[in-house]
This record gives sequence, C-alpha cells and structure tokens, in this order.
Amino acid sequence: MKKTVALGEVPHFYRETDVVVCGFGGAGACAALEARQNGADVIVLERFSDGGGSTELSACEMYLGGSGGTSLQRELGFEDSNENFRAYLLQCFGENHDPERLTAYTEGAAEHFDWMEAQGVPYKRGFFGGRDVVAMTGDSLQYTGNERAWPFNLVCEPVPRGHLPADSDHNGGKVLMGVLKKRVRDAGAEVIVDARVGQLITDGDGSVCGVGVKIDNEMRYIRARKGVVLTMGGFIMNERMTRRHIPRQESFATRHGNPGDTGDGITMGVAAGGNAINMGEAFIGVAHYPPAELTYGIFVNQAGQRFVNEDVYLARMGEHVFRQHGRRAYLFIDNAHFSRPAYHDTTEIVAVGETIEEVEQEAGLPAGSLQRTVAYYNAHAERGEDPLFNKSADWLTPLSEAPFALVDFSLDKLHPTVFTLGGLETRSTGEVLTSDGDVIPGLYAAGRTAAGIPRTGEGYASGMSVGDATFFGRLAGRQAALAG
Ligand SMILES: Cc1cc2nc3c(=O)[nH]c(=O)nc-3n(C[C@H](O)[C@H](O)[C@H](O)COP(=O)(O)OP(=O)(O)OC[C@H]3O[C@@H](n4cnc5c(N)ncnc54)[C@H](O)[C@@H]3O)c2cc1C
Repeated sequence: MKKTVALGEVPHFYRETDVVVCGFGGAGACAALEARQNGADVIVLERFSDGGGSTELSACEMYLGGSGGTSLQRELGFEDSNENFRAYLLQCFGENHDPERLTAYTEGAAEHFDWMEAQGVPYKRGFFGGRDVVAMTGDSLQYTGNERAWPFNLVCEPVPRGHLPADSDHNGGKVLMGVLKKRVRDAGAEVIVDARVGQLITDGDGSVCGVGVKIDNEMRYIRARKGVVLTMGGFIMNERMTRRHIPRQESFATRHGNPGDTGDGITMGVAAGGNAINMGEAFIGVAHYPPAELTYGIFVNQAGQRFVNEDVYLARMGEHVFRQHGRRAYLFIDNAHFSRPAYHDTTEIVAVGETIEEVEQEAGLPAGSLQRTVAYYNAHAERGEDPLFNKSADWLTPLSEAPFALVDFSLDKLHPTVFTLGGLETRSTGEVLTSDGDVIPGLYAAGRTAAGIPRTGEGYASGMSVGDATFFGRLAGRQAALAG
C-alpha cells in the first residue's frame, strides 16, 4: 500500500478535525492534551484496542532536571542547574546531540514534572540512593544513568534525575498512562481504537492535511485542518528495518520489545518527504545489575581482559559488550559478591573454581590472562584505585574470596529489552524536516517516531525516552494546534 495519497484521490472524508494524533502512547497522549488545551479539536487514532504503547509497558521513569531542580529534586535537597544538566547530556550524546532540542529540554524539563503532577500522576517525596534500574522502595527520585561514573563525573556534578511514579516498582507506565488516557478523554479528544493509520494525505504543495486509517478493515480518510502528529513509537519489531539499520541486534538470542513498534510513523513520514536520522542507534538493556553487589565484579572479554568501568549504566555496558570480539563477555565475581543477575537470571555460569587459574582453564581463556587481570585489579582495588578504567572507589574491593565464578554476558546468550533511537528529523517543536532542512507543513512527530534527545545507547539513562516522548509530544501538540 502506498504510504501517501493525494488529496484529490480521497473519495470521501469519514471525519474532519483540527489535529489528528496517530498513536496513543506517551507522546500521543501528551500531544493530544496540549492540542486540546490550546483550543484544537482532536482525534486520536490507535491501532490496538487500547492505547498505552511502550510507555505503558515501561516503568515510566522520566529523566528530568535543570532550572535549579524539579520541585521533587529541590524538596529532597538536590540542586540542578541548566548548565549541569546540559553538560551531562552533552557527555552522553556528544556530536550526535541536537542543540536546539537540548536547550528546550534542559530549560523546560522541571516545568514538565510540575505538569505531570498537575495531570494527576503521583510522585512520592522520597529518594532512593542505591544502585538499581528502578527503585523498588516506592521512592520517586533516584540516579538512573552514568552520573556518578567516569567520565561523566569529570564534567558535571552528579545529580539524581530519574523521576518515577510513586510506589510503582516496574508498573509506573500503567500509573502514568492510566492518568493520561483518562485526561485525554476528559479533555474532549475523540479516541478511536482498533484504527491502524497507514497513509498521509498530501496536498499539491506537499503539505500534509490528513490520514488514511484502517477501521473495521476498511480504509477511511480523516481530514486534519491544522496538522497530523505522528507518535507511533519506534521500529524494533520491523524486521526489514532493523536488519537494514541495526543489523547487530541479530546477535542476541532473542529480544524483547513492544509489538506495536513496527515503524509505521517513520515510513509514512519518509514517504511524505521527511528525513530519518540516527537510525542505527538503539537502547540495548544488558543489565549487569541489580543486585548492586555485582558491580564489585569485573567484566572480561575472550582475551581475559577488562574493557570498561563496571559502575556504568546498563545500556553503556551493552555497547561495550558489543565492541568485544565475538560479542563475548563474562562477569568475573568472587564468593563474597556473587548473586544471579536479576534481569538475566537464566544466564549460564560458564566456570566455577577454587582458584582463578581453574576458572580460566574451565572457561578456555588464554593461559594466565585472567590471573594477570585479577591480580592487577586486586592490587589497585586494595588502594581504592582503578588506573585502567576509573571505576569509582565505592565499587572497588579485591576479589579474593573463593570460590570464583565467571557469568556469561555474551550477547548470543541474552534476551535484552531493545528499543530504537532513530526516527524523523524534527525541530524541537515537532515540525518534520526534509533532508534539505525545510519544514513539511502540517506534519509533526514526537517520541520514538522522531529522533529525540537520546541519540546513543552508550549515553542513554533510564527515563530519557519517556521524558523525551512526553515533553516533545506536548510541544508538537501545541505547535500543531497553533498552526495557521
Ligand atoms: C519494557 C520496556 C521498558 C521501558 N522502560 C523505560 C523507562 O522506564 N523509562 C524510559 O524513559 N523509557 C523506557 N522504555 C522506552 C520507552 O518506554 C519508549 O521508548 C517510549 O515510551 C516511547 O513512547 P512513544 O510515545 O514514542 O511510543 P509508545 O508509547 O509506544 O506509543 C506509540 C503508540 O502508537 C501506536 N501505533 C503504532 N503504530 C500505529 C499505527 N499504524 N496506527 C495507529 N497507532 C499506532 C502503538 O500501538 C502505541 O500505542 C522502555 C521500553 C520497554 C519496551
């Protein structure tokens, strides 16, 4: 099926409205709410029988800060300047970053937290200072990325920025989307479910003025007087697209992602003249913690050598494992700190021994390699130093209590959560751009359909995707509503 249809070819309009929002996840709900709050009539179209998307599947941590701190950060005694927040994000994404988007986000993220609370999302005034992907204490503020790890700690003050709905453990998405879906309907937007959008309607001048959507197995056309907002998630479940753009994901045993992430929004946007960028980047959750104690261990490759500071966030670890020969990596740990990794609890223990030599032999590592690596590491850990990779002294201790184990983190053994970080190039206001940098009138995108704040797996921190999707979803909805 063609992904665009000319206005002149549309036989009949099923509906007409100001703003059509395609996809009812985090970005879509926020776009719809802002568009309504700015006076637009809104129709939301969702392919499944209920909205929610990846946002609802997620813990709904949001990575927020700046402006002196969100009200939650400040009330818990943390200050967070725009400069500090920006310095962290720049370290995360380097030359891939989008300066305009970074400015909008660092300046607006604290207000975005207030907005979420005003919608009714509950947050608890509690700080979890431990090392976990999601605080299991019910607290709403925690560190979620590399803030305390090298080299990030060289360029900015570590500040916790993970904002999690209260008492939600891994179910924050249900809490947040439960609130937002109700708010959208209460605000008067019409939500049509079991409605898969497949086409953009284009006018003679290339502007977008509606969509074609399959409802009851019939293609229907909806006219948008002001704009169409694409908030249809990413493309991790589109085999053709992942093979083309992220071939390395095929090295996993299996991967987990949202079945709705089939890239419809991106391919429709490209068909209407949009430019897809950053398509090779993805979040790949190779979780070497919790439990936090595993951070005391060391990761080695097939040559028995370390390659990263182990106190990094899990997506950074994933990237570094990818770079090892054969994508093979192992966690070496002693009896004092051993546990099963909570997120990869079926991962094999490839070797156990009373001595490091035994472990080395059983795993088939080059003779002497692991012994030398551990001896060097232990000698410096004793003094609270890691001259090779600058792991924080908080996680340095000699690994000396037998028995010792080597846990397999090779990518062909893992089943990580994956989602994509590439999408349509837009202004921070959501306007979709052509490869020449021109705005396509009437077309907006946000969330994982767009290339947002998070631009690399290596720099990603929990909360950056939902934070980005909901924040820029709001900006896109507002911009569409205010269009001429
Ligand atoms: C298990 C898991 C846990 C995660 N945890 C976190 C976390 O804690 N913090 C964080 O920041 N990120 C997390 N992420 C990533 C994050 O949840 C997503 O990247 C983000 O929520 C995407 O938001 P979105 O609005 O762009 O897309 P979604 O929330 O996925 O919404 C897209 C919607 O569009 C609909 N749609 C798709 N195609 C069509 C079509 N053709 N027609 C109509 N509708 C369509 C989908 O059904 C869906 O409802 C997690 C992801 C997963 C999978």
